[in-house]
Amino acid sequence: VNTNNPYAAPKSSVTTATHSECRRDGKHAFVPTGSDLPPRCIVCNDAAQTPIKERTLYWHSPWLYLLVLVNLLIYAVIALIFRSKTKVSPGYCATHLAARQRKINWFRIPAFLLMLGGIGIMVVDEPSSGIIVVVLGFLLVIPAIIVSNTFRAVRIDKSGAKFSGCKEPFLASLE
Ligand SMILES: [Zn+2]
Repeated sequence: VNTNNPYAAPKSSVTTATHSECRRDGKHAFVPTGSDLPPRCIVCNDAAQTPIKERTLYWHSPWLYLLVLVNLLIYAVIALIFRSKTKVSPGYCATHLAARQRKINWFRIPAFLLMLGGIGIMVVDEPSSGIIVVVLGFLLVIPAIIVSNTFRAVRIDKSGAKFSGCKEPFLASLE
């Protein structure tokens, strides 16, 4: 790569990141520091819908989870201090962007309706059963979060970050 090309086009925010150095690492995609994923669907490898939403992802050593056994608050504070952060733009084609949104809504809409209904019940007459319905709504938020986070960092260090959630056609293109 010639970094001193005087005829190179001026770099915009879209093109500052290079994609060529991304590589496959088993079931994961590795993105070196300073690079970003190529603008293709991480499921089917078609051209991604633009603009691709940049995401900030965090990771910390799995060993820190042992602190949960000691004290949840201590874990939370230590994890906050020692977590690593990365920015990455996972792309989706129109089909898979819609599929992802549908999956999230499949949990999020009933969760919202349950919470709303529970509050309604609480206000109208029955506080105790209303609270149960609200709690049920909150519990449905958990699968919604899991579904929306299939793309996540599984390791971040000085050399770069490794991500899970990319499917075979996309991974194969990184080889
Ligand atoms: Zn796709």
